[in-house]
Amino acid sequence: MNIDLHCHSRASDGLLSPAALVGLAAARGVDVLALTDHDDLSGLEEAARAADEHGIRLINGVEISSVWRDELSVHVVGLGVSTDDVELCGGLERIRHSRAARAERMADSLAKAGIPGALEGALTYAGNASLLSRTHFARFLSDNGYARDTRSVFNHFLVPGKPGYVEHQWALLEDAVKWIRSSGGTAVLAHPGRYGLPRATMRELLGEFRDMGGEAVEVLSGSHSPEQFREFAMLAKEFGLTASRGSDFHGPGESRTELGALPLMPPGVTPVWQSW
Ligand code: AMP
Ligand code: MN
Ligand code: MN
Ligand code: MN
Repeated sequence: MNIDLHCHSRASDGLLSPAALVGLAAARGVDVLALTDHDDLSGLEEAARAADEHGIRLINGVEISSVWRDELSVHVVGLGVSTDDVELCGGLERIRHSRAARAERMADSLAKAGIPGALEGALTYAGNASLLSRTHFARFLSDNGYARDTRSVFNHFLVPGKPGYVEHQWALLEDAVKWIRSSGGTAVLAHPGRYGLPRATMRELLGEFRDMGGEAVEVLSGSHSPEQFREFAMLAKEFGLTASRGSDFHGPGESRTELGALPLMPPGVTPVWQSW
């Protein structure tokens, strides 16, 4: 079985429509796909119809932007969430609302660095201000010659200490986990290798995440090196967390890892899908 439990459509910062994304997943041999747009469930209905047509299984997913200990931005993937849970939908709605105001502050910061028109520019990629993410700004900056491609944008812009980065108050990590659980879903710590945490702090995060009700951690992530696959497999075992597998695909040519292209789960860990 080829299982990919993390990817994005145009309902957040992906390049493909939900239906096109599911079609591509099917063509690449994915059997089970979770669509996990940032803070948004609106692509799931179209994705479910396409999954029916292609004969693959779609898991209703989401990737919630949250903050841990008041300072570290952490992403939590929810798998198997219900799309009409009041708590989850209300929480996501508040995050999306805050994205619009954040985008204005990001554009102000870029304007001060001599880059005008970034808000309008990013909007042409997002379509809707409540979806605006750093990815849309990265597309604007790269297409206008400020960097070679969207990935290299993040070496010079949109990250702490660089133009276009602003502090932001996301959801609390414990609330993100609570909303996912209240809607019947499983909370998965996304791409832990991306947070740049020292080993001891990473262990504190994993312990606290588990105590909040988190159940799984992405061991196989498109953001991880093979060495990190092994590292997080060991940590998952140690902390009694199950293990997830997700490419974090955003679109052809823009992502490091293609849909469904990750290796098999290392032996000895319990996959998050074992109980499905
Ligand atoms: P936001 O949720 O607005 O903070 O945007 C985060 C998104 O920006 C992530 O989901 C990625 O799609 C993208 N992103 C962040 N850092 C990088 C990076 N170093 N390289 C490529 N994309 C990145
Ligand atoms: Mn993204
Ligand atoms: Mn993420
Ligand atoms: Mn993602």
